[in-house]
Amino acid sequence: MSISTDFSVAIVGAGLSGLCLAQQLVRAGIDVHVYERDPGPFVRRQGYRIILDRYGLEALRASLPRPLYRLALATGDEPGGHLRFTDSRLRDAFTINFKDEPYATRQVDRLTLRSILMSGLEERIHYGKAAVALEDGGPAGLRLRFSDGRSAEATVVVGADGVGSALREQIMPGADPENSPMAGIYGRSPLRQDGASVIPEALRTSGVLALADEPGRAFFFTSMRFGESPRDAFPRLAPDSYAPTGDDYVMWGLLLRQEEVPMGVRGDLLAMRELAARRSADFHPLVRRLVDTAELDATVLNLFATGRRPRQWAVPRATMMGDAVHVMPPFGAHGGNTALRDAALLGRRLVEARANGTPVEEAIAGYQDEMVPYAFRAVDTAARLMRRLTGGAAAPHWVLTRVLPRLHPVTVPEA
Ligand SMILES: Cc1cc2nc3c(=O)[nH]c(=O)nc-3n(C[C@H](O)[C@H](O)[C@H](O)COP(=O)(O)OP(=O)(O)OC[C@H]3O[C@@H](n4cnc5c(N)ncnc54)[C@H](O)[C@@H]3O)c2cc1C
Repeated sequence: MSISTDFSVAIVGAGLSGLCLAQQLVRAGIDVHVYERDPGPFVRRQGYRIILDRYGLEALRASLPRPLYRLALATGDEPGGHLRFTDSRLRDAFTINFKDEPYATRQVDRLTLRSILMSGLEERIHYGKAAVALEDGGPAGLRLRFSDGRSAEATVVVGADGVGSALREQIMPGADPENSPMAGIYGRSPLRQDGASVIPEALRTSGVLALADEPGRAFFFTSMRFGESPRDAFPRLAPDSYAPTGDDYVMWGLLLRQEEVPMGVRGDLLAMRELAARRSADFHPLVRRLVDTAELDATVLNLFATGRRPRQWAVPRATMMGDAVHVMPPFGAHGGNTALRDAALLGRRLVEARANGTPVEEAIAGYQDEMVPYAFRAVDTAARLMRRLTGGAAAPHWVLTRVLPRLHPVTVPEA
């Protein structure tokens, strides 16, 4: 292969990181195409919220045109808030307070964010394109093969195809993620029911992680209140893009052991919700109400896995971003933020390479050298938190569920 300074980019996966990178490259005038396995843009509910930290917000600011970045902030929840650790009856053990600054952390709706990230890329995203392999070849340098037998050429290929990446073994061999013992059944429920908020005022701006007495079981919930309804904000800031409905909701997740989720239940929405109801029966009545009123088609099962450090990058003009490299259990809310941070970093390196005439292989290697340390710090932190909060290590769990809650007044009285 010859060294390349003028290049085209093929991104595999129109998730958070793939779209964020595409936005940045399009703005810089680089020829980029995104290949997505789903048959269309909104076929899955992707019905949960995501907390963006300063890395996620900074990545969006650096990649999106101004009106789209403003749209992400305008439709987001109010800044600040708390994360409460409680026992199963919602008695506080301790609380983390988030900074009350617009650019420190923001909770956004994932579907809305995805629609924002797709804005302006309509001609460049190709749906129904499941990548299966990468080959040398074609005038551009690399050829991407799809399951429909077709192929596409590009100078640079970026795997942003999530935890089950089809390209990982070729690009970073021997680095498949490690399975963990834990899983999450996620759901969403309307925030307003029978004319009132289901979340009491005391928890209005709180995420809550309620730990069961028995190690290995916990329930998380948080409400998503749109700052401005997407129905109002999109026509103003992205008039040609799809505006999600924007009804406020509560996102929840029951954390349990994978062995508690029988194979026959996985993929069966009703059976998963029923399992969540059975396994959360001992929690506070508010928890049970959330599960009972969940929207069935938003039910998702996530088997937690932990990424393994790449030992080798086998294809100099191909790289990977996000969960495809460094999937992590959802403790600490770093997965999506780290994916967005990767996209901003790789985008910057590629744009600089084209401006300075640096070979694209060098730009990619520079990205990988910088990404691996911060990403795997986040993986290690998330895995450690998962072990502490759900593992059998008796002392921390006992302190969190039996000692600390007795020191605080009741936050949510049981009706
Ligand atoms: C319930 C829940 C809550 C979360 N909350 C947070 C949070 O608060 N903060 C946070 O930082 N993170 C959070 N995360 C994690 C975050 O969602 C992920 O880390 C993030 O989406 C990873 O982005 P990505 O671009 O790597 O992959 P994804 O967003 O998963 O996108 C991958 C894309 O690739 C496509 N694809 C897969 N295979 C192929 C193929 N062979 N060919 C073509 N396309 C393919 C998929 O269809 C998908 O569109 C949460 C996750 C869950 C499940």
